[in-house]
Amino acid sequence: MADRIVNGRRRSDDLILDTALRDFYDAADEMHLNEGLISMLSYPERRVDVSVPVELEDGKIKVFKGYRVQHSTALGPSKGGIRYGKEVTGAECEGLAMLMTWKCSLAGIPYGGGKGGIACDPTALTLREKERMSRTYGARIAPIIGRWSDIPAPDMYTGGQEMVWIMDTICKMLGHFEPAMLTGKPIDYWGARGRTEATGRGLATCGLELMRIKGLDPSKMKVSVQGFGNVGSYTALLLKQAGATIVAISDTTGTYYNPKGINVEKAFEYMNREPGVRGKRLEGFEKEGCEKLGISDALFVDCDFLFPCALQGVINEETANKVKANYILEGANSPTTQEGEVILNDRGAIVVPDFLANAGGVVGSYFEWAQNLQGLSWTEEEYNERLTKLMTENFNKVWNYAQDKKVTMRRSAYIAAIKRVSDIVALRGVYL
Ligand code: NAD
Repeated sequence: MADRIVNGRRRSDDLILDTALRDFYDAADEMHLNEGLISMLSYPERRVDVSVPVELEDGKIKVFKGYRVQHSTALGPSKGGIRYGKEVTGAECEGLAMLMTWKCSLAGIPYGGGKGGIACDPTALTLREKERMSRTYGARIAPIIGRWSDIPAPDMYTGGQEMVWIMDTICKMLGHFEPAMLTGKPIDYWGARGRTEATGRGLATCGLELMRIKGLDPSKMKVSVQGFGNVGSYTALLLKQAGATIVAISDTTGTYYNPKGINVEKAFEYMNREPGVRGKRLEGFEKEGCEKLGISDALFVDCDFLFPCALQGVINEETANKVKANYILEGANSPTTQEGEVILNDRGAIVVPDFLANAGGVVGSYFEWAQNLQGLSWTEEEYNERLTKLMTENFNKVWNYAQDKKVTMRRSAYIAAIKRVSDIVALRGVYL
């Protein structure tokens, strides 16, 4: 991906990196941030590109490209996921690592931003091929990974199993055990109780806090959730438990709609009835008293609160004017384009930005790391209580600033996040 300088500013052909840079520059200009600091924060501190040779089942060797980017370690070790996918590039990892810097900063946790990945088609690899690929990748990024330097976590197409392979390999190289070097581990292997629900819990907490501030009774609120995966399903469940009516849920098979309320517990049971194809588990759920609508209709049904928890870019120039909800909380990363948000803002809708609304995941990872460093494990109640408290405080911080300065919540969140990092970069100086 080509990088270039336009009017003294860094730009990229990679959409994710370029969007991250433009959002950063817009907020930095509004803050009158020093140009030197702007330049420093436009680039990652470190990017490691590795080759990942894998012996395939047929004995042939295939070499994949892998990356690990540390955008900033100003506030502490860098933190961010490792993703597998055909589209993964170094530039994409740079953009995502930058977003992690702002997410961690805004959440008030002691981390900078990182991201990594391997360009591969994970669905075309056998389990053993994936194991060899994960272990070799782990070994090649090992020099920059550690509990006080860079702490990976699962991301697209990676989970607890990949984390165990990577950690096991690095621990063998180190010659000692070091569970705090990465998060998202299985519960019985130094993982944290509560982590599975953490992103949904954080998102639902933001939704309920917004209802409280606006004087809205949860039991009178209609909610639609796009995507019934990890984030969407727990968001729907927790909001239903708080009294809201979940009128629609969706996955890649369609939208399941019931204006009187979906039985979310039943949807969970339905998804787990048998090990279905990931992302398609609601197939046939209309039999449980719902109407089946088109795949994107979860975005457009009549509701007060909308939680897009599936894909990026779904609320855009073409779709935003069909969204009826007045409150949109971004569970997915970047579900609203800049053009889509202008349309929503113009009609007075409130958008709670992804790096505030879905930060429950990284906050939960921070709790896992903290427990690992202590060698203690918390109860699920303690984990949930701390998560809810932190998310509520962060939500109010962003809300109050947005009200005070009369800016959108996204702009308010960016300014708060950039300020914490830039203050520390300025304090520490350029020899970072
Ligand atoms: P997931 O794979 O568990 O679930 C995604 C869901 O979206 C599935 O139900 C899938 O069927 C559905 N989906 C996909 N395409 C769709 C479409 N076109 N229309 C309707 N539904 C569709 O993923 P997840 O972990 O829940 O993550 C969802 C989003 O949240 C992603 O953008 C991810 O980056 C972001 N996110 C996740 C976490 C986390 O902790 N899991 C944290 C922060 C952000």
